[in-house]
Amino acid sequence: FRAPYRGGRHFLQIPGPSNVPDRILRAMDYPTIDHRGPQFQVLARKILADLGELFGTAQPVMVYPASGTGAWEAALVNTMAPGDQVLMYETGQFAALWQNLARKLGLVTETLPSDWRHGVDASAIERRLREDREHRIKAVCIVHNETSTGVLSDVPAVRAAMDRAGHPALLMVDTVSSLGAVEYRHDDWGVDVTISGSQKGMMLPAGLSFNAISAKALAAAERGGMPRSYWNWQDIIQANQKGSWPYTPATNLLYGLSEACDMLREAGLAQVQARHARHGAATRAAVAAWGLENNCANAAEFSPVLTTVRMPEGHDADAFRAIVLDRFDMSLGQGLGKLSGKVFRIGHLGDFNDLSLMGTLAGVEMGLALAGVPHRAGGVQAAMDVLREHAARRH
Ligand code: PLP
Repeated sequence: FRAPYRGGRHFLQIPGPSNVPDRILRAMDYPTIDHRGPQFQVLARKILADLGELFGTAQPVMVYPASGTGAWEAALVNTMAPGDQVLMYETGQFAALWQNLARKLGLVTETLPSDWRHGVDASAIERRLREDREHRIKAVCIVHNETSTGVLSDVPAVRAAMDRAGHPALLMVDTVSSLGAVEYRHDDWGVDVTISGSQKGMMLPAGLSFNAISAKALAAAERGGMPRSYWNWQDIIQANQKGSWPYTPATNLLYGLSEACDMLREAGLAQVQARHARHGAATRAAVAAWGLENNCANAAEFSPVLTTVRMPEGHDADAFRAIVLDRFDMSLGQGLGKLSGKVFRIGHLGDFNDLSLMGTLAGVEMGLALAGVPHRAGGVQAAMDVLREHAARRH
């Protein structure tokens, strides 16, 4: 497959998969090695140590040759028994998809609803857990960065709510679109299973996903769980101790993962996260100057990974996105689920810098004019003002 040449790079501004840097593409180009040989063990051990640093955990991290959906399933089949009750919080489309998956696995799901414009309300979780005196709820599942809505939830607040309720359920957190891009501390925040994927903040292609686990989650897996084989944590942990996996690993993606971890370390994780925050702030300044509405309704929960923009009534977000793709060779994220056609999403994550953001926002502003979407000019200027101020402070 090859898209016809148009000059310059395609702007892939969907909120993942994100742009894969050349350095990672080149790392994946290295010839495949024997995954049972001594060289591979060195790679495996390095990656497992790198991942511990990234997730903020001293516990094992599972690496699956699968997309994020596989890691959702892995988290549940290792720890939950058929018929177990799980409490999920519907922040948006990804939380809803995870809930569907849980139901298909035979779990009894209960959903706390939201308007898809706010993050997880920890007090609602606390109230529900307090009612559950018999401790029928075995897991609380939340999405850290809801990629469909552009809302970031407060994970430590949920942990604190569960502790206040004195409830023993496991806490499972989806970080598919936040890992690397937003501060995250699996151990310090008392998360039992963290689910993640390679194709967003990690700057890799899709195809790898992760479960970081706690001692409590591992004990639950050892005691029970569902019938499982491929996803089984214990088999993977045993193989990992010997520097391998119990099946053919995606060796070339693992080269990429090793490179990505080196790159994040070189740039400094805190600096990478500050860059995402800065790009979120500049994008929001542009959206406000255009006179458009951010889908995230709470300023404390703005996502640093993406900004979801609501279309004015009577205007189709997908028609606007089609114009931007056709005229400027830029892909913006579509509205998902019940936001279909009503919003577009600007991804500002992964391998991305101030000038990539300016190109992105210029494409959006020109596209708004071409599509006849009511707006004010000046968004690009407003974003430049934010970035210039930050740049001045960095010197
Ligand atoms: N969770 C979140 C927050 C996501 O953004 C995505 C994908 O975009 C998924 C889960 C599902 O992951 P995948 O599409 O890699 O299976």
